[in-house]
Amino acid sequence: MIIILFGPPGAGKGTQAERLVERYNLKQLSTGDMLREAINRGSELGKRAKSIMDRGELVSDEIILSMISEKLIDTEGSGFIFDGFPRNLQQAKALDEILNKLELKLDIVIEIIVKDEVLISRIENRVRESKNARSDDNAEVLKNRLNVYHQSTEMIKPYYLEKGKLVKIDGMRGIEEVSRDIEGHLSKIRKKLDP
Ligand code: ADP
Repeated sequence: MIIILFGPPGAGKGTQAERLVERYNLKQLSTGDMLREAINRGSELGKRAKSIMDRGELVSDEIILSMISEKLIDTEGSGFIFDGFPRNLQQAKALDEILNKLELKLDIVIEIIVKDEVLISRIENRVRESKNARSDDNAEVLKNRLNVYHQSTEMIKPYYLEKGKLVKIDGMRGIEEVSRDIEGHLSKIRKKLDP
């Protein structure tokens, strides 16, 4: 099963991805987490990415695609969840090519819908609690991350809609309810894959 979790910053993609990993034995591929790991390791790639991330801009497609391709080689487990990727149309098209070459097929793109005002207050809370404080979690950078989302990332919606892969979920409810909705969609797919 190959799933894309799609939605604005703070929509809850990471939380939902973790649950799906446990439930379905999938591997989570979060490009944001991979970049933060590279930064923590102090690698060359991490150094290049840090200032871009701290401004809320997109890291180059080249870096992102090479990270993703590397991870897709290991096909142990029941599939993949992409979280935070693809983030623009070029990445979406490149992903199709990579999957084609590996003879893998994308099953579903799940859009978690959350209004900008709600996102802003969620991230403000995250900062206040400073549990998962991130250097790009502040009002100004978040505004830019939201702009980038609306300008570049949302452009991939028509692409997946046309392919009949896009489903929408209301992400402004509790974690459990969102989870249940997602699992409802996934169980339909699983039935199709293995009736
Ligand atoms: P969020 O979804 O909360 O904004 P992420 O952890 O997904 O957080 O991403 C954090 C930052 O990492 C982004 O603002 C961007 O700079 C960079 N990034 C993550 N994924 C990608 C991607 N697929 N393409 C380009 N940049 C990315």
